[in-house]
Amino acid sequence: MTGANSRDRELRERAEAVIPGGMYGHQSVALLPDDYPQFFARGEGAHLWDVDGRRYLDLMCAYGPNLFGYANPEIDAAYVRQLGLGDTLTGPTPLMVELAEALVGMVGHADWAMFCKNGTDATSMALVVARAHTRRKTVVRAKGAYHGAAAWCTPRPAGVVDSDRAHQLFCDYNDVASLEAAVAQAGDDLACIFAAPFRHDAFVDQADPDPAYARRARELCDATGALLVVDEVRAGFRLTRDVSWSRIGVQPDLSSWGKCLANGHALSALLGGDKARAAAASVYVTGSFWYEAAPMAAALETLRLIRETDYLERITALGARLRDGLAERAAAAGFGFRQTGPATMPLFLFDEDPDLRKGFCFASEMLARGVYVHPWHNMFLCAAMTEADIEAALDAAEGAFGALKRQAGGLPPVDKLAFLSAGAR
Ligand SMILES: *Cc1c(COP(=O)(O)O)cnc(C)c1O
Repeated sequence: MTGANSRDRELRERAEAVIPGGMYGHQSVALLPDDYPQFFARGEGAHLWDVDGRRYLDLMCAYGPNLFGYANPEIDAAYVRQLGLGDTLTGPTPLMVELAEALVGMVGHADWAMFCKNGTDATSMALVVARAHTRRKTVVRAKGAYHGAAAWCTPRPAGVVDSDRAHQLFCDYNDVASLEAAVAQAGDDLACIFAAPFRHDAFVDQADPDPAYARRARELCDATGALLVVDEVRAGFRLTRDVSWSRIGVQPDLSSWGKCLANGHALSALLGGDKARAAAASVYVTGSFWYEAAPMAAALETLRLIRETDYLERITALGARLRDGLAERAAAAGFGFRQTGPATMPLFLFDEDPDLRKGFCFASEMLARGVYVHPWHNMFLCAAMTEADIEAALDAAEGAFGALKRQAGGLPPVDKLAFLSAGAR
């Protein structure tokens, strides 16, 4: 096949032969509109180029890791400098201590840090530390909340056995009564309560944390001796420069971090308070690449930019401008268009769109106009975006809403998400 996306098509065909399903995980070809590119050639600042040379303003930011722009010169210079000195060595470099000191200095509840690679490593480590600390088994967490892809928390059931999921009880996010019921059911076996900083589940409207829910989670942990874990892997440093629940006056015992911690370089962390220090020292957790020095150099530079620049104020203002502009354009075109979550991490859903056909069409029309959006997952703003980028996104949206309106009667059904109907959806 020739055409605008011929290189991507060719790579997909080759991938089909050598990569199971052609792709796996969150960029699985089954989860996005057919015209979305699967393969990218490069990224710079707020923009991405696909393998067919098309440039997009990228509102996904690599699903979070891009906070200061792709190929950020300062962060990547620190990374490359350390790469020349040594990356994976027989042991860590002094950067590990400096980075732990930097995080302990920035995140109010933290007295110590441990480093790993993926967010799933950090959330799984939180679970192990909580169980070691309490010598109990049960975790209470919200239905539909994502905490990674290990057997204990993966949203897809294939290959998982009941014992992998044992000792877990579920509540509804922001629902105090269901939280209390789950904790009561755990009885004297509660090891920890896991919480997302806000509800950022796929396919449903996002929701701010109800301070009463956060406070109750803290009280229940204090009353039972269990640990409170806030999973900052996705939202960390996009709401505040401290742990997110510090904004509502609730401090966790443990927090898991990843994604933007080193602006796209592989690094995640578990932070904790003194209460959990002995348990954290007692568990055996490691990996061949967990002492890598170059991502730690990148993280130190990322944290410096977090402390010393107005990135958060800027992305918050840009997000508000995007939200207001989209609301105007959606209303003008006559669509019920819901934008939920913090302005720096928006999610778009259309009213009366049960199988997401409007969302898929809108996303495709945005893509055709050079803006990469997601039809059912929250997006991210990054500090490399400018007011001109937001204006470009709004112009694209005006065109996309118009195109959607013209097609609205005859949109094809979206059946590729049917597998989710029993699970996350
Ligand atoms: C992405 C994510 C994880 C898992 O992080 P990985 O680096 O993909 O393993 C855990 N928790 C939340 C909230 C996430 O968004």
